[in-house]
Amino acid sequence: MSRLTDKTALVTGSSRGIGRAIARRLADEGALVAVHYSTGEDAARHTVELIERDGGRAFTVRAELGVPGDVHELFLGVEQGLKERTGETALDILVNNAGITTPAGVQPEDVTAEDLDRLFAVNAQAPFLIVQRALGLLRENGRIINISSGLTRFASPDQAAYAMTKAAVEQISLHFARHLAPRGITVNSVAPGITNNGSALFDIPEAVEQMAQFSAFKRVGEAVDVADVVTFLASPDARWVTGAFIDASGGTLLG
Ligand code: NDP
Repeated sequence: MSRLTDKTALVTGSSRGIGRAIARRLADEGALVAVHYSTGEDAARHTVELIERDGGRAFTVRAELGVPGDVHELFLGVEQGLKERTGETALDILVNNAGITTPAGVQPEDVTAEDLDRLFAVNAQAPFLIVQRALGLLRENGRIINISSGLTRFASPDQAAYAMTKAAVEQISLHFARHLAPRGITVNSVAPGITNNGSALFDIPEAVEQMAQFSAFKRVGEAVDVADVVTFLASPDARWVTGAFIDASGGTLLG
């Protein structure tokens, strides 16, 4: 059964990785999806092709997040795409997925103020401003899902700065959940553990084997493992869940 027929969705950072899997799953359930990207135009188009091949509906929207005017540019594209396809600009589902990590190999001692500014701009400020901007478009009983990380509860010193930004994202869920409850809109955080996002690291069997040990199930997550959780939260079945932190780490946080 299609749980999201006649719904519209925006998934930031859905040109690849977890975002692409989320966009595909939402479209599988019938949603019209705005596939957002920054640099990966071909990859975003491929996400749309995959969705259309499966009988779904989607369109691309470009905007670099974390720079002045980012959210304005994003919503110009979203509103135009929705209007062309539905005749209106109403949005039902917003997934704040786009994110960056601390540059590889940078120890906490070496993180600069510029690194922090960039991480917070993309991972925390942009999601906040996107939620704020989406409020005028979101229909009653809408859904906001913010992608956090298991690293808000699992110490990994080289990702301290990144984890700080994800802790901030979780606060968006907590406080907006209260703010938007009168409109029936739910706001939740989903925290993946190590998840195969298609990057080169996941082509190295020894690395994958090592990373797999963190999960209670002794495998790395697949993007669709996270996408299924997000799709549940986006569905009417999740109407009674708001302000929650959902651990989608395959038991990594069990210790
Ligand atoms: P990827 O690195 O595979 O993809 C990132 C996506 O975000 C791309 O679509 C990229 O767009 C977009 N993006 C990155 N920076 C910007 C920017 N400045 N402006 C606009 N778009 C941007 O990410 P993952 O799939 O690995 O991760 C998705 C989310 O899940 C992130 O929030 C991440 O922090 C979180 N997460 C991931 C984990 C993992 O193990 N993979 C674990 C825990 C959390 P483009 O390529 O078009 O530039």
